Amino acid sequence: MALSERHVTIRSQLRRVLAEGPRTARELSARVGIGEKEVAGHLRHLARSLRQSGERLHVEPTRCLACGFVFKERTRLDKPSRCPECKSERLAASRFVIVGGPRGAGVS
Ligand SMILES: [Zn+2]
Repeated sequence: MALSERHVTIRSQLRRVLAEGPRTARELSARVGIGEKEVAGHLRHLARSLRQSGERLHVEPTRCLACGFVFKERTRLDKPSRCPECKSERLAASRFVIVGGPRGAGVS
């Protein structure tokens, strides 16, 4: 019980932080007080619950800072470790943002 309540709280906090604008997993972990590796799992659940309100979790893909390669194919939420093109580890982290919402999408 306590564990799932905590998870619900974390997700509502994530949602509030994401509503402010795009955030990386690292920024989210710092704001909500969870490990960076836990963020992806919470975001998956959050994305599912957002659908009910017509919102969507949009992921801005990871980019390679060395050659500009964009990880478009990547559907997992966690961060890749290096660029498949140039093997650089200088990657701009994916950023997450909530888009859409009840405004304009609701039934009047
Ligand atoms: Zn690269």
